[in-house]
Amino acid sequence: MITEPKKTNLLALGRDGLKNYLAGLGMKAFRADQVARWIYAEGMTSFEGMTNLSKADREMLAGAAEIKPPVLLDRLTSTDGTEKYLFGMEDGERVESVLIPGEDRTTLCISSQAGCALGCRFCLTGAGGFQRDLLPHEITGQVFMARALAAPDVITNIVMMGTGEPLLNRDNVFEALRRLTDPKMFSISTRRITLSTAGVVPGIKALGDSGLGIGLAVSLNASNDAVRDEVMPINRKYPIAKLMTALREFPLAPRRRITIEYVMLAGVNDSLADARALGKLLRGLKCKVNLIPFNEHAGSKYRRPSHDAVNDFKDTLADMGYAAFIRDSRGSDILAACGQLRAEAAGVACPHDGQK
Ligand code: SAH
Ligand code: SF4
Repeated sequence: MITEPKKTNLLALGRDGLKNYLAGLGMKAFRADQVARWIYAEGMTSFEGMTNLSKADREMLAGAAEIKPPVLLDRLTSTDGTEKYLFGMEDGERVESVLIPGEDRTTLCISSQAGCALGCRFCLTGAGGFQRDLLPHEITGQVFMARALAAPDVITNIVMMGTGEPLLNRDNVFEALRRLTDPKMFSISTRRITLSTAGVVPGIKALGDSGLGIGLAVSLNASNDAVRDEVMPINRKYPIAKLMTALREFPLAPRRRITIEYVMLAGVNDSLADARALGKLLRGLKCKVNLIPFNEHAGSKYRRPSHDAVNDFKDTLADMGYAAFIRDSRGSDILAACGQLRAEAAGVACPHDGQK
């Protein structure tokens, strides 16, 4: 049987990679900018429409290359307007993204890994285990697809808060972030992208050193090591004191703050003493606090605190001078809420509303 030679997926190439590839086909350097515009600004997935290229070039490209994003396998819409997309990668691995329309913004929550190795006790993704790292174009591919699927809505903000721990897939994630912010590729402002980490201390340092300039969110979820050790095993490797030092040293752009995420678990970390301890811990850090009432799921021993408990916790932080917000996860009817991505593998992805 004769098999066709595999085509080069232009979406898998960075900006220089695209330039080099086209140069190899005998095309001039400025053609790379033209092709990139069609792909990233126009979302084009075939070459016929690239009208500023010659017919011969378009035919040559169609023979040798392709523009191949992940495949949409499923799409679920929540009663609150949140949408969950299930994407298939080339090897069949499945990854989810969540679109969260808001008043003044539309946020896309993307995944950095298939599954997650960190096994936080309250997280469905963690319970499903780790499958593999995503490659740069598998991360950006979620944005490429979601842009088309969300139209006419325009995605304004990106949060890397879906499945996976982005700072354990550092090289691929950083390259994806470079492509997302590159003015000649996805051209998304660094101010509108936030990465969330469970607290991988060397990764936080590397993100600061990278100069990428995107926002940082940290899933703190506890104010002392005893509780954090129990709910987030990674705390045994990078305990709170080390994490706080990394956060205090993180270079913040002007007017930016670190987002502290705090999943509220009834009877575990939701007392007023916990709120005061959290306030004390965060003293002097430029931050805001997002309180996420636990999304209950079958098989979990944790419970969501009452509205009153959540409100009192928030008020205690506010009294201590913090900007604290309650982020009720959206999309829970389609298992798109925080910690619910990949439900079919024992879990689903996570929307945080209104992250910046
Ligand atoms: N691994 C990174 C990125 C994923 S973000 C991180 O943990 O930060 C996923 C967010 O959803 C985290 O803030 C996590 O604490 C939160 N989360 C996980 N399971 C949850 C649940 N059942 N209810 C509410 N929030 C949850
Ligand atoms: Fe992984 Fe984040 Fe879930 Fe923890 S909360 S298991 S780090 S995805």
